[in-house]
Amino acid sequence: MGYVGRFAPSPTGPLHAGSIVAALASWLDARAHGGRWLVRIDDLDTQRCDPAHTRTILAQLDALQLRPDGEVTYQQARTAAYAAAFAQLEAAGHTFGCACSRKTLAESGARVGASGELVYPGTCRQGTGGREPRAWRARVGDAVVRLTDRAAGQQTEHLAETCGDFVLKRADGPYSYHLACVVDDAATGVTDVVRGADLLAVTPRQIWLATQLGLPVPRYLHVPVVLAADGQKLSKQTGAAAVDTRNAAAVLREAARHLGLGEQPGPTASELLSQTTAVWAAQWL
Ligand code: GLU
Repeated sequence: MGYVGRFAPSPTGPLHAGSIVAALASWLDARAHGGRWLVRIDDLDTQRCDPAHTRTILAQLDALQLRPDGEVTYQQARTAAYAAAFAQLEAAGHTFGCACSRKTLAESGARVGASGELVYPGTCRQGTGGREPRAWRARVGDAVVRLTDRAAGQQTEHLAETCGDFVLKRADGPYSYHLACVVDDAATGVTDVVRGADLLAVTPRQIWLATQLGLPVPRYLHVPVVLAADGQKLSKQTGAAAVDTRNAAAVLREAARHLGLGEQPGPTASELLSQTTAVWAAQWL
């Protein structure tokens, strides 16, 4: 099967230095494999996403000459597919309604797992006692997920230890990113997911979902995230600056340096991209 990769930004702000690293890494891996590279806009959360940011992101990618090999897809248009996947999980007994609020969970003494999240203590697993569900969760049981990340190597995760029964949908919100991501990656034939290492911790639950849904599990490569001066992950939530892509070569050179690909001379963006693709291929193929 031919290689298909993707970049899937959430339009909660313009691309910052960290998201550009993820975009470049996924683009380079697709090019180095002679594959296709797709762009998906993860705009499910209408409260936090803004079409103006989507336009900026697409313009930034274009300025950097990172151009998708196909139509850009939008998660907002895919709700029916997520609903069908959710129904499939429900029919197989893999979901349950949960009436707990974030506050009651936080106050319940629930453990914090390795990824820093509260581990669901199983409160509503046997029923909500007639209370209205606030969310639907995945019933993970004692599932153990194994994955081989191309950078981090073999990982084994007992989902009950790290996150427990994770949320698939909130009553007042969209389907979860995990469900949407797995359904969309499969629908677009993605064979390889290349993204920031902050998402390594949630990959086992995505693999679990793909497996329950009978979908193929892609290969994964998680690349180092860009840290802010205070050591925190650079993110739109923490106010990371939008990258000015007018000097495309300089922006790409910096992202390539962060990916451990050395200081490429360029001088143009397209020369830099082809130099960097060769270094990437030597390192990762
Ligand atoms: N939309 C997610 C984000 O911006 C990333 C999705 C992914 O690469 O799986 O963090």
